[in-house]
Amino acid sequence: MADVPVHLEGRTLTLSNLDKVLYPETGFTKAQVVDYYVRIAPTILPHLRGRPLTLVRHPDGVDGTSFFEKRRPPSAPDWVEIGGELGSVLCDEAATLVWLANLAALELHTHQARVSSPDAPTAVLIDLDPGPPATVLDCARVALDLRQMLDRLDLVATVKTSGSKGLHLSVPIASESAEDETTKSFALSLGRLLADAAPDRVTVTMAKEQRHGKVFVDWSQNDRHKTTVAAYSLRARPRPTVSTPVAWDEVEDAMDAADPTRLQFETDAVLERIATLGDLFAANLESEQTLPTLA
Ligand code: ATP
Ligand code: MN
Repeated sequence: MADVPVHLEGRTLTLSNLDKVLYPETGFTKAQVVDYYVRIAPTILPHLRGRPLTLVRHPDGVDGTSFFEKRRPPSAPDWVEIGGELGSVLCDEAATLVWLANLAALELHTHQARVSSPDAPTAVLIDLDPGPPATVLDCARVALDLRQMLDRLDLVATVKTSGSKGLHLSVPIASESAEDETTKSFALSLGRLLADAAPDRVTVTMAKEQRHGKVFVDWSQNDRHKTTVAAYSLRARPRPTVSTPVAWDEVEDAMDAADPTRLQFETDAVLERIATLGDLFAANLESEQTLPTLA
């Protein structure tokens, strides 16, 4: 297919190979990736704005070779914003999102802090990873336990699917209210409480052999150098799944029904959800919450 020139909000870019299939299992093409990111732009952009991106690029689709890119791709147009220690892409506008989709940067990963305050994360991120044969349903149970603990501390927590195997719980906090050492130790403390109470189901130990059949509460993701896939990013999985914010009752319902498919969402479902539910991750855009000291 010929190159397609695009004019978007005053920017000009050229899209190429739009008919290329990037998800062979479903036939999902680059045109569909671009279309998804165009439609999700109003919802995802506030979550990406001002955050240095790590791109996961799949030029030959999800079955081909891929690479992480933390620095500005050499082909970046001069209007693409750059920031952070490494000179990463800042995705502040729809045109940047479309340009990234055209690069087959399927996954967009962000730091917990914005460039304006690189030492101050805007949330505590708790990455729940199921060690097989544990599944996302085991993560759901742990997430609900964590939510109850956070509720007792008067903290609002949000949750999303990773778009892969587990869940990501996020506790938004006020800007400049904590450094990454604080958010990291807060996440570890919560994880330890759960692991002590249910050592057969939960671990805070990274070692693979400790994780068999358990949920690993990965507190270390709060490190300032680490990134996590952004809410509403596509994943480079066999199907075009999305890291999708979910309501707490959906987590509960999936667990009660023992139905992991209730916590799996592809592009069309995500766009429909936004039309009816709005942005279930909006609490992460601005927060007044501060973390208590855990004894
Ligand atoms: P899953 O639900 O399968 O665990 P995930 O996105 O949470 O999906 P993890 O392996 O738990 O994946 O990793 C958490 C985050 O760490 C990822 O979202 C990604 O941003 C980052 N990450 C993982 N592996 C790498 C890597 N090799 N290089 C850079 N960042 C990575
Ligand atoms: Mn994970």
